Amino acid sequence: MSFELPKLSYSFDALEPHIDAKTMEVHYSKHHQTYVDKLNAALEKYPALFEKTPEELVTGLNTLDVDEVTRLAIKNHGGGVVNHSFFWQVINPNNQQDKELADDITKAFGSIEEFKKKFTTEALGRFGSGWIWLVKHPDDGQLEVCSTANQDSPLTTGHTPLIALDVWEHAYYLKYQNRRAEYIDAWWNVLKII
Ligand code: MN
Repeated sequence: MSFELPKLSYSFDALEPHIDAKTMEVHYSKHHQTYVDKLNAALEKYPALFEKTPEELVTGLNTLDVDEVTRLAIKNHGGGVVNHSFFWQVINPNNQQDKELADDITKAFGSIEEFKKKFTTEALGRFGSGWIWLVKHPDDGQLEVCSTANQDSPLTTGHTPLIALDVWEHAYYLKYQNRRAEYIDAWWNVLKII
């Protein structure tokens, strides 16, 4: 038994011109697939873990009964699997506005515009590869903007991801090269949920 790449429910060109079809194709069918393949390889020694979902593995990362090499592989490749699965949902072009989420954001940040400013600043400031998140905090349920390095998932620290932005260069380099700011601007255009 092994994990499979979750099906993408829209076409590669559905987010044009903001996110181009070639980037989507490579990002989904090469990068995301490789995270799936490497997670599967990492679990060969621990086949019982295939009973869990990748989300459960990443959530319980620090308490899994595995050796440290495997734990790191699950962190990196399991994180890559769940982060991308979530990202495709966040930017699904068929999404409708989530009124409740928009209201919660307005309450937490003052306005949608203020939230976008804060999120964009975080995205521009993330050094190297990583992700920017809107999460719900596990203790008080407050919404907060944060970022993680590499493929680290907020699930591991008990946070619930609500919005995700991939700022690895593979997410934008084909179209935007080094211009991360342009990619972030374009990404706001494909985010329909707020
Ligand atoms: Mn990516």
